[in-house]
Order: sequence, then C-alpha cells, then structure tokens
Amino acid sequence: MSKDSRKFKVPDELANLYDFANSLDVRHFTHHGVQHLQSDELKGPRELGAWMSQRGLLWSGAKITPAMFDTALQLRSSVRAYLEIDPAERRKAGDSVRSLNKAMRLFPLVAEARNDGVMALRAGRDDALAGRTLDRLKMCAAEECRRVFFDRSKPATRRWCMSTLCGNRTKTRAYRERQREAG
Ligand SMILES: [Zn+2]
Repeated sequence: MSKDSRKFKVPDELANLYDFANSLDVRHFTHHGVQHLQSDELKGPRELGAWMSQRGLLWSGAKITPAMFDTALQLRSSVRAYLEIDPAERRKAGDSVRSLNKAMRLFPLVAEARNDGVMALRAGRDDALAGRTLDRLKMCAAEECRRVFFDRSKPATRRWCMSTLCGNRTKTRAYRERQREAG
C-alpha cells in the first residue's frame, strides 16, 4: 500500500488497483504558480518488478520480461480507460471490459472485470477482491488531471480528485467562459 492510498483512505482491497492506475501521472496543471510535472513510476521491467515486490505481488526472484512489461502497460491503459467511464455506464461498456480482460490474461496480477461492474484483483493471495466499492474508484473529471481517486462522499457523486483544486479550477474556468460569452 502506498502513502497516497493511505492518505486518501482507499480501502485495502482497492489499494493496488488505485496505485497501479495512478503509477502514470499525467497531471499538468499549475498550482500556486508551479507546474505539476508528469511522471511514470513504471519506466521499465525493473521498475515494474520493484513496484510489484513492494506490494507482495511478485515472488522474490521472479523476473519481469519485456513482454510482461508491455502487457502491464496495456493493462494499465485498459484499467484507466475503464475507470474513466461513469460507474453507472460501466455495466454497459462491454468493449472496455473485454479489452481489460484480454490485457489481464497474461499478467501476474490475476484480475477479472465482469459485466455487472464487479472487479477482482488478486495475485498469489485471495484477499484482494474488489466488489461494489469499485464503483467508487473514479477518474478525476478535470482534463488536466485524470488522477484516479476513491469517492468517499455519501452519494458517491464526486467528480474531482480534490474539489478544492480540480473542482475550483474547472468551475472558475466555466465562470470565465460564461462571462466572456455574455460580454
Ligand atoms: Zn483532479
């Protein structure tokens, strides 16, 4: 489990999925005059191996081949594409569920997405079953953010990873655009 998943109180069973989706950081907004730098934790097979060992997902001594690494990146794109879909729409998104399952077939993380919106992610252990809580794992609606976050709000209607940051920025921009159109 990472510092971020603890900080944002992501449930244990979703922590690996959350970390995996967020290992790619595409945020490019400016906050207090500082441009956020994009990064990728999974730069190569070695980094992927380290990432997995830290989470107990890789037997010690097991080696990540370049082909496994490619599959992992495909899997991450599919996971991110899936989480970008509104939870209410996910059950209907047959295509993304299929490509997600295809990408996951070869991966040492055993994961399964089903049409009813339930996803299971497990490695050698069986305790990482993500059920309905997966609906609360979402992608930030801000185009310049796209961070995956866990929605703890009661109605589960949050759209931004942090309303004080991404929410405000988006609202301010919409307000300015309306002003411009009116003026
Ligand atoms: Zn955000």
